[in-house]
Amino acid sequence: MVDAPTAGSPGSDLSETDPPEADRTDRTDVAVVGCGPGGAVLSYLLARSGVDVTLVEREGTFERVYRGFGWNPGVVRLFDEMDVLEDVLDLAHETVAEGAFSLYGERVSVLEFDLLDTDYPYALMMEQPALLERLVDRAGAFDGFSFHPATTVTGLVTDDDGAVRGVTARDRAADETVAVEARCVVGADGRYSTVREEAGIDPGLFESPIDLVWFTLPAGAVDAGTQGQIAREGVLVHFGLGGGDLQVGYLLRDGEWPAIRAAGFDAFRGRVAAVDPDIAAAVDDNLNGFADTTLLDVSPGIADTWTRDGLLILGDAAHVASPIGAQGNPLAVEDAVVAHDRIVRALAYSEGVVPRSRLRAFEARRRPTVERVIALQRRSAANLAFWLDHGRRVPPSLVRVAAALFGRGAARSRIARRAIESFALGDRSVTVARSHFVE
Ligand SMILES: Cc1cc2nc3c(=O)[nH]c(=O)nc-3n(C[C@H](O)[C@H](O)[C@H](O)COP(=O)(O)OP(=O)(O)OC[C@H]3O[C@@H](n4cnc5c(N)ncnc54)[C@H](O)[C@@H]3O)c2cc1C
Repeated sequence: MVDAPTAGSPGSDLSETDPPEADRTDRTDVAVVGCGPGGAVLSYLLARSGVDVTLVEREGTFERVYRGFGWNPGVVRLFDEMDVLEDVLDLAHETVAEGAFSLYGERVSVLEFDLLDTDYPYALMMEQPALLERLVDRAGAFDGFSFHPATTVTGLVTDDDGAVRGVTARDRAADETVAVEARCVVGADGRYSTVREEAGIDPGLFESPIDLVWFTLPAGAVDAGTQGQIAREGVLVHFGLGGGDLQVGYLLRDGEWPAIRAAGFDAFRGRVAAVDPDIAAAVDDNLNGFADTTLLDVSPGIADTWTRDGLLILGDAAHVASPIGAQGNPLAVEDAVVAHDRIVRALAYSEGVVPRSRLRAFEARRRPTVERVIALQRRSAANLAFWLDHGRRVPPSLVRVAAALFGRGAARSRIARRAIESFALGDRSVTVARSHFVE
């Protein structure tokens, strides 16, 4: 952390806090760090509400390493409330109207989305770059918005009381150091958040019994009628991304990856093909080595606190979901929608640095939902790990009977439905505070 030269309490004049040695100082109401789904949605909503927002992003383009690509019906509803759904549907995407997987070759339907109590009975599968670019474009229509790509936040500017008054960053395009002074800094900079670390907030990571290796194959390489396969030989998940690509994940036990790599890439290809022999040719043709794969270290976590004076963290920076149920994006978008309302109110009802007392309501509102989702994911991860360890010993005939029973009715049982619906619809009480919009 960089201490501001002139100390001040929340509410004092921000212009007194120029941090030393910055080539350039920008001033804004809200500095959002990180242009992922959380940061991009929040920036757009704040800009549209007449708030001055500076969005700072480390990457020079919208391309990102593998990121979540699932947008559940709950997010589709929120996109509509934000007036961006039409824009989003213009981009390359696929829609999914039924959740289904294959269990030892038997198709099991988990959820038909049109049975859900929603006007949006479908999930979207799409990659993040085009979506993020569109959100930034939409935010750019408002005067108070500025976007700084290729700019890495390196530290927080704080006063003697620990209140956050801005960030320091390195603008690689301009080759200069920047200080961004703000009444509120939002850390939306992902699971390895610099903002969280600089604020000394513990990420609260949990152990995970499973990891996932991702790779991309051409559409058509896998039966598109399901999103996953559980076989004696292992577990695969797969989703079409709309642009002709198929994202495939191979599930493994936590810590198993070094041994898999040591056994060589041919052996890995063999493992994948053993789960689904139909995929073998596509794997041979399209994957040439481990460089064509990405390990997602599934370590969920919930940070100790999400707010300080002048600071709020959200999305993966505040809590890391596992990929089970594709909840990372929905949680980040819901966070942004709730944070938008709280921050606009906090700016209106305070002066200078926004005090924590005005931001705490964000955390009080979101923490129970996040804890519930992550607890559910952790139970599912334990079940999958058990399957990886012991699935082979279960006679296939027994599995087929179980699959048939599950398919016939268990998925529609109240308890199972409630869990599945909460993954699909998210927190239905979260709605966009459109009353803040200036146009
Ligand atoms: C490597 C990785 C792989 C993932 N794979 C999957 C997956 O396969 N399936 C799935 O469902 N979910 C996956 N997720 C999770 C999902 O993508 C996230 O839950 C979702 O993107 C959260 O959005 P967010 O806005 O909170 O953070 P992110 O999308 O992580 O966005 C954070 C942004 O902050 C930027 N940033 C980071 N540090 C700085 C800094 N110091 N200064 C400025 N900018 C900074 C980053 O470049 C990024 O653009 C993955 C996440 C990661 C990090």
